[in-house]
Amino acid sequence: MPYVYAFAEGSRDQKDLLGGKGANLAEMTRLGLPVPPGFTISTHACRAYRQFGQLPDGLMEEVGDHISRLERTMERRLGDADDPLLVSVRSGAKYSMPGMMETVLNIGLNDRSVRGLARTSNDERFAWDCYRRLVQMFGRTVLDVPADRFEQTIDAVKLRRDTTSDLDLTVEDLQHLVEAFTDTIQEHTGYSFPQDPADQLRLAVKAVFGSWDGERARLYRRQERIPDDLGTAVNVQAMVFGNLGTDSGTGVAFTRDPATGQPGVYGDYLPNAQGEDVVAGIRNTLPLSQLQEIDASAYRDLIQNMGVLERHYRDMCDIEFTVERGKLWMLQTRVGKRTPEAAFSIAVQLADEGLIDLDEALERVTGAQLARLMFPHFDPSELPHALSHGVGASPGAAVGRAVFDSKRAAVRAVSGEPVVLVRRETTPDDLGGMIAAQGVLTSRGGKTSHAAVVARGMGKPCVVGAESLNVDLSARRFTTPDGVVVSEGDLVSIDGSTGAVYSGDVPVVPSPVVRYFEGLVSPHEDLLVHAVDRLMVHADKRRRLGVKANADLAEDAARARRFGAEGIGLARTEHMFLGERKDYVVRLVLAKDEEERRTVLDELVPLQQEDFRGLLEAMNGLPVTIRLLDPPLHEFLPDFTDLSVRVALEDARGKTDTEHHQLLEAVRRMHEANPMMGLRGVRLGLVLPGLYGLQVRALAEAAAELLLAGGDPRPEIMVPLVATVTELERVRSEAEAVIAEVADARGVRLSIPIGTMIELPRAALTAGEIAQVADFFSFGTNDLTQTTWGFSRDDAEGAFFTTYLEAKIFAVSPFETIDEDGVGRLVSMAVQSAREARPEISLGVCGEHGGDPTSIHLFDRLGLDYVSCSPFRVPVARLEAGRAGIAVEGSDSR
Ligand code: ADP
Ligand code: MG
Ligand code: MG
Repeated sequence: MPYVYAFAEGSRDQKDLLGGKGANLAEMTRLGLPVPPGFTISTHACRAYRQFGQLPDGLMEEVGDHISRLERTMERRLGDADDPLLVSVRSGAKYSMPGMMETVLNIGLNDRSVRGLARTSNDERFAWDCYRRLVQMFGRTVLDVPADRFEQTIDAVKLRRDTTSDLDLTVEDLQHLVEAFTDTIQEHTGYSFPQDPADQLRLAVKAVFGSWDGERARLYRRQERIPDDLGTAVNVQAMVFGNLGTDSGTGVAFTRDPATGQPGVYGDYLPNAQGEDVVAGIRNTLPLSQLQEIDASAYRDLIQNMGVLERHYRDMCDIEFTVERGKLWMLQTRVGKRTPEAAFSIAVQLADEGLIDLDEALERVTGAQLARLMFPHFDPSELPHALSHGVGASPGAAVGRAVFDSKRAAVRAVSGEPVVLVRRETTPDDLGGMIAAQGVLTSRGGKTSHAAVVARGMGKPCVVGAESLNVDLSARRFTTPDGVVVSEGDLVSIDGSTGAVYSGDVPVVPSPVVRYFEGLVSPHEDLLVHAVDRLMVHADKRRRLGVKANADLAEDAARARRFGAEGIGLARTEHMFLGERKDYVVRLVLAKDEEERRTVLDELVPLQQEDFRGLLEAMNGLPVTIRLLDPPLHEFLPDFTDLSVRVALEDARGKTDTEHHQLLEAVRRMHEANPMMGLRGVRLGLVLPGLYGLQVRALAEAAAELLLAGGDPRPEIMVPLVATVTELERVRSEAEAVIAEVADARGVRLSIPIGTMIELPRAALTAGEIAQVADFFSFGTNDLTQTTWGFSRDDAEGAFFTTYLEAKIFAVSPFETIDEDGVGRLVSMAVQSAREARPEISLGVCGEHGGDPTSIHLFDRLGLDYVSCSPFRVPVARLEAGRAGIAVEGSDSR
């Protein structure tokens, strides 16, 4: 197997072997575009180099052969004293790693050939400029001389010339620089700059291979999850020169705007310059459009080539090019990186132009991109210096007054003040503060911390793990390493996409995409909205999965419906027992006899009925799955410590048998070492007679009321935490009796499906039996993950998830993306046995995974009927379900 391939031999499909740059250079060559000839040393050679610590045997011989071929093509020889060939040695891995690795230009120049170049180009200054660039780049990248050693020398010369532009440097200046640079190299390395082009080439190739393992490159790969063992290719290419005068130049271009996706050329041009000058920012570039005035024919060629590339790649491309004395050369292309906004716009434009079909357009955007489009963002033109960078855990921009305590956050918010809740980390106790806040900032924790998960569920901007901030909760302030102090009440801005924390209020711009989902913007009004609309409509056409929402409140349900939810997959009822209604729970717990208990329950019926009516109304005509009460009752009782204090005070005053005493006794009795596995879910319903009956009655009454008023309520009853079919049977028969009674009394026909959550391994394992008495299953993948792994999320995430992620025990938190091999297998088994037992059973998912793109694709493959997620994730789920729909169907249609 050869190590080296001429550009003419390769193609764009060979990125593994030739790297992205090499594969695309080959592709452009095959397309007949003007690419300076050259060849690619494969990634295979790099892997061999990494393995043995030296260039593999035979490599430089192969390179020598290809150089000879190149010399014949170019009719010039490397190092020739009269008419030298120069080449560039360019890194290029499979995945683009911008600026992470090395490239050396003008290889082949030395003290003799520089004079030859001066003669053939008829431009002495140009020749010495090339030589000075070579010595500088070679010194920096191959010989590891600190870059500023060279820059200081250039600055000194410029100062002497009283100029800031390197264009003003004369031949003598450049000659002086070459001399000074070679001295610097000698001084720094003890070697002289190699005069033999073969040495230059070999050392440059080694340096490029070595740069794969440079610190920068390694860090970048870790962040972008690029495997370390791929290695980089090296491209050796005949030089073309943009620094040959004002009729030459170099530039970068995009075939469409990578920021907005707007059609039309977009790029920068720098006359009289070599490639690296454009990105180095040492001179101000011109907008690409000005090339048209400078050189109309080169511009025309460029536009035409960009068209060729776009049609060929059927996507937006980015391009590097050089104009040498009026002739255009193409130096690089690839499918260009883009913002989420541009991704949507470009995909739809290409579909409109007939380059791709709508399926492919849909495949080119992601739910993650859509999610980013849905959050308000900071105006990029107004960003101040960041105080700190944490982890962007839930995208979006939030501005508010820093508040360090959840209760105060809630109070301030009620008075209409926007707040940002700042904590070291959050616990379930902070829920109120999180709900009240515009955004949440913590100094600890990662993407799976409580703050992160909850904020994402709420669609609320959140930055976690801003470790450089010293949060002092008792002093109500945080301090940055530079000593900036932000105290309670000071304004802060946080960016949940980038993780940046700013002081003051950074202006935000609202997302037109959310306004579109809300029905406030029509697709004609906005280009991005038009694109989103086209792809959403198509996704809805393609998806097999239904999409429902998890919503407990009527207003959330209404929003979910506007966002496209086809019902409520999970309405929790616990919030209906909080606040003032805690008193009812207290009375229920303290009830001395059956009668007293009954009284309390009866009083609760109308209140619950009102709760349910709102939800059913908001989702009129669509299914609403109500989950019966799930958490342990003591969660609704007063805090043990608080109570103890009260009781102690009362004791001191001689009152020894107050209600507080009884309550404390009850709290003590109900205390559980591990509430997650205690008296909760269906167990609660079975141990506390009448509780589930009350909820069922209220639901049936609400449905009857709406039916009688001409509505179309579609309630469903979901029983939590079932482990065995017997539990469900018991609850089911009680519920059916209550429903029949209400239907009779009101004179309506009520058909309310009764199903269960599958959130315990035992339930999944016995799904066939449970299905006999369940009209539907909803996989509660949060609890199913906890119970399958045997860790509780609140404890595990804070305690050891970071270690587990770092040790690669899992690549991503199983609470974020479903663990396919474990939890996924339980779901798959349960789906199969449920369908065998009861083919018409409806199967869905209501864990947080229902809104996670990767998990959605798995649920589609497993043949579930729907996913249910938080209202804000509904569009994301629709989009991803549509993409999943194509992935299978269209896999070999193109
Ligand atoms: P990067 O991946 O960092 O962009 P490149 O290998 O693309 O590095 O090269 C750096 C710069 O040098 C680019 O602007 C490129 O266009 C330019 N360049 C590379 N090879 C040549 C060549 N043979 N002739 C002229 N310019 C070149
Ligand atoms: Mg490049
Ligand atoms: Mg659960």
